[in-house]
Amino acid sequence: DEKSEKCTVGCPILDRNLNGGIPTKSITEVVGESGSGKTQICLQLVLSAQLPPSHGGLNGSSLYIYTEYPFPIRRLKQLSLSLLSSHPNHLLSSSDPLSRIILRGISSAENFVELLPDIELCLRYWKSRLLPIRVIVVDSIAALFRSEFGNCCFDLKRRSSLFFKISGGLKLLAERFGLVVVVTNQVVDFIEGNESVRIGNFSELCSSGRRVCPALGISWANCVNSRIFLSKDQTGIKITRFSSLLFAPHLPLSSSQFVITEKGLFG
Ligand code: ATP
Ligand code: MG
Repeated sequence: DEKSEKCTVGCPILDRNLNGGIPTKSITEVVGESGSGKTQICLQLVLSAQLPPSHGGLNGSSLYIYTEYPFPIRRLKQLSLSLLSSHPNHLLSSSDPLSRIILRGISSAENFVELLPDIELCLRYWKSRLLPIRVIVVDSIAALFRSEFGNCCFDLKRRSSLFFKISGGLKLLAERFGLVVVVTNQVVDFIEGNESVRIGNFSELCSSGRRVCPALGISWANCVNSRIFLSKDQTGIKITRFSSLLFAPHLPLSSSQFVITEKGLFG
């Protein structure tokens, strides 16, 4: 989409992999096993989004919806200090970057659907304060559906309907307000014949050598616009993370490597 802007994730090599950053007006999913860096990318995104476009940001505040407790507030603080020290002369330093991140914990998919009208109000009225909201993070979407649903047809129907309401609501907001929307997702073991694999290129190796694919199956896969897959490879104490773009209508398949340090993500 020509009219979509990009937001830096604060790591040049990942940005390059993403052709300049994460696009606005669509839903980007970050998928990977536990500890692969999904939350770290999201935390860094909501900080980098506050930078001006000349520095790859969106001059924007963010809404961070978390579904797993506790929210890593100390890590966010640590990353914000690191960002401030690398952009000392910027507006960012005039007040606390954490004041431009709205945190909201939710516990179920229904809870999320009920929250959508409030999110829209928040997007409209937050504008009058500091920077408008330009980013919504949902970390993680998988947790909202964990063990809540059985496998009978009724539950699958109810589940798909919730996928549709959540992603439809987020897409509408993304387009209307020019937002970057990032959702994180877990992986499940690849099983031959698994419905989420049938639409192709979805299975990847994780650190233990298992073949895995994104959780929530094909009906959720159809709800997101692009998907970034994270995996890790531990050599000594240095953990190298690999990100590959599984599908993105606007980009070719590509991959990059990064590490996570105290100061954030580095290529
Ligand atoms: P989950 O699915 O369990 O939520 P995740 O993909 O969100 O996992 P993250 O929390 O993003 O995983 O990544 C955790 C990893 O980030 C840790 O294993 C660690 O390697 C790295 N990390 C986190 N904080 C720091 C820090 N202060 N210094 C260095 N590395 C850190
Ligand atoms: Mg996480």
